[in-house]
Amino acid sequence: MSVKTPTTSSIKTVNPATNQVEKQFDVMSEEHIEHILASAHGAFQQWKKTPFGRRATLLHNVAAIMRDRRDELGKLCTLEMGKLHAEGVGEVQLCADIFDYYADHGEQFLADKPLETAIGSAFLSYQPIGVLLSVQPWNFPFYQITRSAAPNIMAGNTMVLKHASNVPQCAAIMEQIFIDAGAPIGIYTNLFVPGAKVSQLIGDTRIKGVSLTGSEAAGASFAAEAGKHVKKSTLELGGSDAFVVLADADLDLAVKTAALGRLWNAGQVCVSPKRIIVLAEVAEAFISKARAIYENIRIGDPLDPSTQLAPLSSEKAAQEIIQQVETAVKQGAKLVYGGHRVDRPGAYMEPTILTGIKPGTAAYSEEIFGPVLCVYAVKDEAEAIALANDTVFGLGGTVFGTDTAKAVAVARQIDTGMVYINHTTGIAAELPFGGTKNSGYGREQSLAGIHEFVNEKLIRITTPDAPY
Ligand code: NAP
Repeated sequence: MSVKTPTTSSIKTVNPATNQVEKQFDVMSEEHIEHILASAHGAFQQWKKTPFGRRATLLHNVAAIMRDRRDELGKLCTLEMGKLHAEGVGEVQLCADIFDYYADHGEQFLADKPLETAIGSAFLSYQPIGVLLSVQPWNFPFYQITRSAAPNIMAGNTMVLKHASNVPQCAAIMEQIFIDAGAPIGIYTNLFVPGAKVSQLIGDTRIKGVSLTGSEAAGASFAAEAGKHVKKSTLELGGSDAFVVLADADLDLAVKTAALGRLWNAGQVCVSPKRIIVLAEVAEAFISKARAIYENIRIGDPLDPSTQLAPLSSEKAAQEIIQQVETAVKQGAKLVYGGHRVDRPGAYMEPTILTGIKPGTAAYSEEIFGPVLCVYAVKDEAEAIALANDTVFGLGGTVFGTDTAKAVAVARQIDTGMVYINHTTGIAAELPFGGTKNSGYGREQSLAGIHEFVNEKLIRITTPDAPY
C-alpha cells in the first residue's frame, strides 16, 4: 500500500503523545478491494483442503515472527494509539501465545464429534465456511486481530480485515507478518477502507461470515446489515464491568487491583473495572486509598518505562472523556480526583475518581472509555448484585473476596459473559471471550470461538436395511 502525503483519507497515524500526524494512507480503490476479495475467495478453495498440520505451521511461524519483533511491534502500538510500550510488548507476546495455542489445539477442537443415535451412527463434521470479514478497534491493535484471526484461519477460513482507521501501520504490518510467515496470498489481507464502506462488503456474496469488535452503535448497524444478507455474525461490543468488593475482601488488595486495573491501556479496555461497588462502611476508606494511588501516578511519555499512565488514543477521545466527566459532575456526581487535561502536548488526562453517580444520569448508564474510576457505595451484597446488573452491558466483571465459594455464588448472579474472581477481567489464549446483553453475542477463542464460523455438519450413516 502506498504511503502518501496528506490527502482527505481518515486512515492515518496520529501520535497521541504529540497529536502530530505521522503517516497517511490512501483508501483502497474499488478495483483493489475487488482484487482482495477475489484472492481471499480463491485462497479459500485451497486453504479449506490444507491439512491441519500445514495450517498449524503457518500459525506457529506468525507467532515466532511476532515474538522476535515484539519490541518493534509494541512501539508501533505506542506510536499509533498511545499505549505504554511495556503494555504493547506484553500484548504482542500474548498474540504469539494465542497463535501457538490454536496451532496446537485447533485440530482437536475441530475433530469430528460422534453423536448418539438409535439408528446407525452419526457425527458432526466442522467445516470452514469461506472468507470472513473481521472489523476491529484500535485499543489492542494486534490482540484484537489475533483473537479473531488465529482460531478462524486454523479452522480453514480466510480473512479480510478492516482495522480501525487510526492504527493503519499495525494493520499493514500484520498482513506482512502473515506473508513473511509463508501464508499463501489471500489467507489474511488488510483492507484500508472507512467504516462507511463496511456495509457494502457485508453484502458481497464471497463474504460468508462477519465479526465486529467495537462500539454498540457500530455493532448494531453491522449486525442489521448482516441480517439483511443472512450472514452469520458475532459482535464484541462495549462494556461497563462491575468490580464488586465483598465484605470479606482484602481491602488494600481490592483497591490496588481496581485502581491500577482501571489505568491499564489508559482505561481504554472493554473489560476494564468501570464501576466499583463497595459496601457503604468501607467506601470512604476505599476512595481515600484509591486517591492516594492516583496522586502518585506518573503520567508521561508512553515510551518511558517509568511512565504509568499514557495518553488516550486521540485528541478526540481525550475531549470526549473529559466531557463525560464534566457532564457527570453537572448531573450531581462528586469529582474526588482528577478530571482534567494534563498540561503537556498530547491527548493526556488525569486519572480520575467519581463518586455519588445517580441512576438516570449519563455516567450511570454510559461506558466511560478512559481512566475514570467510578465508585458506588451499597448497603449489602444484594444491592451490589442488583447494581452490577443494572446496565445494558453484559461483558465482564470482577468479584473480590477471600471466601471463594461465596465469591463464585455472587459471580453466578452477575449477568455478563465473563466474571473473574479476585482479578480484573483478563485474557488468556485458552479462555473464551465475549458478552451478553448489549455487549454482543458469540465468543472468540476457545472451543466456542473456533466453532463460530464453521459449518457444524451432521453426517449420519444408516445401513440400507434400516427401518427409517
Ligand atoms: P468503533 O467506533 O465502533 O470502531 C470499531 C471498528 O468499527 C473500527 O474499525 C471502525 O472503523 C469500525 N466502524 C465504525 N463504525 C462502523 C459502522 N457503522 N459499520 C462498520 N464498521 C464500523 O469503536 P471505538 O469506539 O473506536 O472502540 C471502542 C469500543 O469498542 C468501546 O465501546 C469498547 O468497549 C469496544 N470494544 C469491545 C471489545 C470486546 O471484545 N467486547 C474489545 C475492544 C473494544 P473506523 O475506525 O474506520 O471508524
